[in-house]
Amino acid sequence: MNKKITSFHKKTIDERINILNELNLFDNNFNITTTKNTFNHLIENYITTYEVGMGIAPNFLIDNKIYHIPMATEEPSVIAGASNAAKIIGLNGGFKTNSIIREMIGQIIFKNVSNQKEFKEYLENNYTQFKEIGLKAHPEIHKLGGGIINFKTEIKEENFVCLYVFVNTLDAMGANTINTILEAIASRVESNYGAEVLMSILSNLAVNSIVETSVKIDPKTLKNSDVIARDIALASKYASIDPFRATTHNKGVMNGITALMLATGNDTRAIEAGAHAYASISGSYKPLATWYEQDGFLIGTIKIPLALGTVGGSMGILPKVKLTHKILNIKDAKELMKIAAALGLAQNFAALYALTTDGINKGHMRLQARNVALEAGANKDNIDDCINYMIKNNSITVNTAKAYLNSIKG
Ligand code: NAD
Repeated sequence: MNKKITSFHKKTIDERINILNELNLFDNNFNITTTKNTFNHLIENYITTYEVGMGIAPNFLIDNKIYHIPMATEEPSVIAGASNAAKIIGLNGGFKTNSIIREMIGQIIFKNVSNQKEFKEYLENNYTQFKEIGLKAHPEIHKLGGGIINFKTEIKEENFVCLYVFVNTLDAMGANTINTILEAIASRVESNYGAEVLMSILSNLAVNSIVETSVKIDPKTLKNSDVIARDIALASKYASIDPFRATTHNKGVMNGITALMLATGNDTRAIEAGAHAYASISGSYKPLATWYEQDGFLIGTIKIPLALGTVGGSMGILPKVKLTHKILNIKDAKELMKIAAALGLAQNFAALYALTTDGINKGHMRLQARNVALEAGANKDNIDDCINYMIKNNSITVNTAKAYLNSIKG
């Protein structure tokens, strides 16, 4: 089990790295910049890199193991919020994963099907053959113990028929794996049946790749303990009746998850698309994380699709991805799914806790002021005074920061 870290935010950058090194959760060989040559092969028309800072939200107690979570984000206060939530939830027994399933979904969509019923029967009668084609198309995934699990056929409106293919992609997100399998099956159906294929592609609505995680918090460990559980539960209830609020509520969840997905080389768009589609799967857009009171405790639960990977894509060639895997100390994709769900729930808790007590601005103000001061040209010698000046004058603007910096020029 990893060890707890104390006062991480008060340390210098080098001290933080030393702490991780001492816990054997760092590797200096991976703390390097990816070469231009690698990027030039990774994306098209490459010209330069775009940097995002990466920090650590320490001390996430998840299923009795402590994780220090790397997060890549451009937004101030996200990592502070997650860290504070992890501290409080850690005091309350930590995060518990209630359930986890992991299976990816592919779709072969056929167009202009004149006899949908007959075509559906044809597809259903050939599942064994399709399984063999899939195996031949991607022997590696089958050899490793994954591959096609089963199939489902659905007649759709407008003369479409969809063949769903359910695949165990092991520790990969599986987009390329699934697409390879689908295209091989599609081309066989095309030649054997004369069907017209519209497209073959995985679905990002990963309803078979879901984690459910919960926490149980004693309100006595929170400020405003007499009303806080009720107010957070009410905030959750409100999000369930108003999509304007639910969207912001879920954006808070994704503040954490997307930062971890970016840091681990995952496809952030796939994860975001899946999460938001799942939030509206009932027909109206709902919160992904919910809170309620039970026997004097505040219970929080998140249920979210997370079709992420720990291998595949560009992960194997990006040194910083190797670094984040080292920091996380995980063995497989399921473990990363559990961490991501816990982080999403923590981030949501941090936002609701702030919103129902001090409001979001108080916590944000200093961090926001820091950015503004930097933009106005503050340096390490005058930045703290510049921030204090803006906060004291209740004006966090570049002009105010510049006015202060000019005033001390002498
Ligand atoms: P990939 O093509 O590199 O394949 C993953 C490989 O890892 C497979 O060959 C598999 O056999 C292997 N593997 C899986 N588990 C393993 C394990 N435990 N040990 C060793 N090997 C293992 O990667 P992918 O996950 O198929 O594709 C991901 C990429 O596809 C991402 O970059 C994503 O952005 C992109 N993509 C996404 C979409 C979409 O989301 N709609 C569409 C197309 C492509």
